[in-house]
Amino acid sequence: MSDAKEPADSGTRRAFLKNVAVAGVATGLGSVTGDVFAQTGSAASPTGVAAKPPTRATLDANTAYANFLSFDDGKDFEDARRGLVAKLPDPVKIPGRDGVYAWDLEQFAFVKGGPENNAPPTVNPSLWRNAKLNMNHGLFEVVDGIWQVRGYDLSVMSIIRGEKGWLVVDPLTTEEVSSYVWKNLVVPHLGDRPITHVIYTHSHADHYGGVRGIVSEDDLKSGKVAIVAPAGFVEAAVGENIIAGNAMGRRATYMYGNLLPRSPIGIVDGGLGKTGSNATMTLAIPTQYAEKTGQKLMLDGVELVVLMAPESEAPSEFMFYLPKFRAFCAAEDSVHTLHNLYTLRGAKVRDALLWSKYLQAALDMFGNDMQVLFASHHWPTWGNDRIVPFLSAQRDMYRYLHDQTMRLANSGYTPREIGDATRLPDSLAKHWYCRSYYGTVYHNAVAQYNLRLGFFDGVPANLHRLTPVDSGKRYVEFMGGAASVLKKAQASFDKGDYRWVAEVVNHVVFAEPDNIAAKHLLADTYEQLGYQSESASWRNFYLTGAMELRNGVHRVPIGSPQSPDVIRAMPLDMFLDFLGVRLDGKKAAGKSLSFNLVLTDTNEKYLVGVENSVLHYSKDRTSDTADASLTMSRSDLNNVMLGDTTVHSLVIAGKAKIDGNSQKLGEFVTWLDNFDFFFNIVTP
Ligand SMILES: [Zn+2]
Repeated sequence: MSDAKEPADSGTRRAFLKNVAVAGVATGLGSVTGDVFAQTGSAASPTGVAAKPPTRATLDANTAYANFLSFDDGKDFEDARRGLVAKLPDPVKIPGRDGVYAWDLEQFAFVKGGPENNAPPTVNPSLWRNAKLNMNHGLFEVVDGIWQVRGYDLSVMSIIRGEKGWLVVDPLTTEEVSSYVWKNLVVPHLGDRPITHVIYTHSHADHYGGVRGIVSEDDLKSGKVAIVAPAGFVEAAVGENIIAGNAMGRRATYMYGNLLPRSPIGIVDGGLGKTGSNATMTLAIPTQYAEKTGQKLMLDGVELVVLMAPESEAPSEFMFYLPKFRAFCAAEDSVHTLHNLYTLRGAKVRDALLWSKYLQAALDMFGNDMQVLFASHHWPTWGNDRIVPFLSAQRDMYRYLHDQTMRLANSGYTPREIGDATRLPDSLAKHWYCRSYYGTVYHNAVAQYNLRLGFFDGVPANLHRLTPVDSGKRYVEFMGGAASVLKKAQASFDKGDYRWVAEVVNHVVFAEPDNIAAKHLLADTYEQLGYQSESASWRNFYLTGAMELRNGVHRVPIGSPQSPDVIRAMPLDMFLDFLGVRLDGKKAAGKSLSFNLVLTDTNEKYLVGVENSVLHYSKDRTSDTADASLTMSRSDLNNVMLGDTTVHSLVIAGKAKIDGNSQKLGEFVTWLDNFDFFFNIVTP
């Protein structure tokens, strides 16, 4: 199918990490493509330190899950396969960049079976069921006139037949994958018609990154293809990548299990799909926006009725109804899992009250009419008699988490108490589509507290706590020293009291980061917690933590974390804001500086100043008394942002000009931090 090789070289690792950083930031996805870590379906360890088998406590916990849920209900398996038109032949390996597979479903071939519970003992049986469903792949008919490509990325591409050509909804994550499935599945089976519109349902990269794989720059320039997106799309799509980008990218490697082997002791699924594809992410700027609920868009003869959903699953998002097909596109606001009200990679908390109201609006506006519901992850739901309960349960699930959290908060409960006390009622919890494959009841409840009340729980002791190292040292001393703590912790471990062991032994690890026994016990604990987790995000977080405790942080070289399209689309204000985030307050203390930044091709100018260890700027302004002036083109500046060149090299090449005190400008650069992607997480 391709002659792409299993990757090994550092270029490969760079490509991988580039993807991790970009995708990780925007959507939290990414994938292992290297042989950096062993990939095995056996019990061999990814870490050099042997992975442990599940304990009795873990087996019991997973059995309790299995007993609560109805594995004889095979409807999801039917739906996930319904309407299959064609599929890529096995083994599914889609070529990417630099000889690296952009998509390799074969790595997950160990995940197989139907609705019956055949979970390995190291995987939560409910998560295993979800992992099996996400193995379905192919081109599927939703109804006559709407198709979906599923199983070749974390996300789903939908294709709608217009009068002259195709409307494509959410063109996957990378151009290599979207182009490959278009050429090998869509065109051969649906016909070679032009794409007239691409619709982005929301601002996460798994829903726009593949756009250039199916539309050319010429078609964009000539207006042959229109790009439709919800209002606020560009700022949201670009913005989420920048200010907290490095921290999000690193944490995303935990959440998505990018560094783990694909195996029953590693990653088995991503919750929304297997994982993200790994290749080139692109962005074409929208040419048309959905702005208002009730707005009707006529696109290539197909009417869309808009339902705006800002600040729900993404800052910029919309759903739409297609009267002609009696079909509702729920974007990512109603999928076959409890989604995240807070994503563990880190992001602003999402508002479940708003989210729930959007789903109510969907029912109010289209609930009587819709005959099929499709979304941008997972499989569709057919039949009004099934869609209405599905949407209603999803509406209630989000609203319940919000309302019960605030009920308890108003009664004086604090976040951890609320998280522990909150359970979905059985009338919701028994639905497979309300299970916690991605978000969890616990962290979503805590998030809603955080949304309304912030980080502080109101207990004075928690107002100004010591740092993890400082408190760790004191805890360990008070508890009689590390050896004594570990002895007691081992006894708690043997009883399966893992949450407690994690809390206590974490103090030892932060007090004594070289204490191997402590790190191993904590790793063993995280591992059991991972084996028990229904949420793919939690599992991946725990197992990656265990791996790094056992093996240390595996630093692989990384290139620029940003996609060139995203850099090009970035407003200069955002670039300067990020420069401000990079300014080291201590290094800049007592210093002051001002400079003009003049961009010749975009006619933008800024007066930038540094004082009080802060960077500030004024747009459309320059000053004759500034220390220096830097004149260059925006396109050259983009290359600087991508790390492909430096201002210094551009000056030498005559492409940038510095007037005034160039030395001072040079000094400014030394005040800027360069962030280390692989900062420690599980150790100080
Ligand atoms: Zn998505």
